[in-house]
Amino acid sequence: MSYNAWFECINLECREKYPLNKIIYKCQTCGSLLEVKHDIKALKRRSADSWKALFDKRYKSNKWPFGSGVWGKKEWVLPNINDNNIVSMYEGGTNLFWAERFGKMLGLNNLWVKLCGNTHSGSFKDLGMTVLVSQVKQMISEGVPIKAVACASTGDTSAALAVYCAAAGIQSIVLLPRGKISVAQLVQPISNGALVLSLDTDFDGCMSLVKEITKDENIYLANSMNSLRVEGQKTVGIEIIQQFDWDCPDVFIIPGGNLGNVAALGKGLLMMQELGLLNKKPRIVVAQAEKANPLYRAYLRGFDKLEPIKAEKTLASAIQIGNPVSYEKAVRVLKEFDGIVVDTTEQELADAAALGDKTGMFNCPHTGVALAGLIKLLKAGKIDKSENIVVISTAHGLKFADFKVKYHEGTLDFPCTYRNKPIELPPTLEAVKDALNSALKERRINDV
Ligand SMILES: *Cc1c(COP(=O)(O)O)cnc(C)c1O
Ligand SMILES: [Zn+2]
Repeated sequence: MSYNAWFECINLECREKYPLNKIIYKCQTCGSLLEVKHDIKALKRRSADSWKALFDKRYKSNKWPFGSGVWGKKEWVLPNINDNNIVSMYEGGTNLFWAERFGKMLGLNNLWVKLCGNTHSGSFKDLGMTVLVSQVKQMISEGVPIKAVACASTGDTSAALAVYCAAAGIQSIVLLPRGKISVAQLVQPISNGALVLSLDTDFDGCMSLVKEITKDENIYLANSMNSLRVEGQKTVGIEIIQQFDWDCPDVFIIPGGNLGNVAALGKGLLMMQELGLLNKKPRIVVAQAEKANPLYRAYLRGFDKLEPIKAEKTLASAIQIGNPVSYEKAVRVLKEFDGIVVDTTEQELADAAALGDKTGMFNCPHTGVALAGLIKLLKAGKIDKSENIVVISTAHGLKFADFKVKYHEGTLDFPCTYRNKPIELPPTLEAVKDALNSALKERRINDV
């Protein structure tokens, strides 16, 4: 069976096509973003049931590279890449956590959290980076003179790029906004041998510089305007539905910054629909931080157009973006999936993350944004309590230990409602017993 994929301009009046091994990020004719298109006719020759059976057989199997959540769907991702060029860390296959206690507090029985941060570099960015770095390896093997791969990052893209490049033996270059990412996110690319450029600007500033340096074709651009990453990230929705035995949930809630991830989620769902694997049309909710909410503002104006803003400092640092590259793709997805956009304050996101932690999660602040968005939409009656809801958790909380420390120290500039303060004591049995007596009188250990 032969399948095929290529880059295609997203401008419906243009639709210019380019091969996947061409170094190109935007349409040469009209300047729009590109997307990877697949030969759907060829894919349709296999029935929906047969695709499901194939994906189920490969899911988390030991057969390299198909045990990866991304490469288990290789025909839908990059059908023609040589398996020898695949750079995989067995990404995907992450837990879909039943948030029983958090859900019950909100009157929900069916709340699930897709823990995309339980992966090699600690964020969902691995799903896309495996595809991009594999394609780079393929191009290098074909003789394309790529010397390095570069990205601008709010922290997680650079961590993923650096580690996949390190595994493949390819040089990575990362441009980071100085002082605006967590300690873990900074030390990840440093450890993995990236050339780390720490710049006194914000993400949007790093982005415009990386666009300039990658005009040199020897330096390949790894930001999500490169649509190869979207091909890997689009497997997240497919995998969630697979984890529900191919029964699609009612609502997906996803935090959004540059908006590549929501574009990817929608692209995967649309592909399932075309190939007959989607049994219902879900809603998609994007949650943003109030401090960096250009999509939310556009939503309030009926998506007339993107008005870039200067993103303010937010605890949700990975989505501190004022000029999202994938705005257009995201709006298409939101229009297709009855979309809602919601935004949250710093206290709302921090409290929601902490409350989630008290019920068995370990949330990054962006997941806090999504959980806080859920709470707001339930209160506003925009989501029904009977619905089956999936919150996409984008990174592991351990990458944001600094945020959690400050929350529980109570040193953020708002009241930290669910603060859990350690009790400092002299090391005597008497002191410990006294402390236990009064603490256990005050509260049951499991109360939130
Ligand atoms: C990148 C990232 C996001 C935002 O994804 P976009 O594609 O930029 O919208 C959200 N959360 C985390 C943890 C991220 O690393
Ligand atoms: Zn075009």
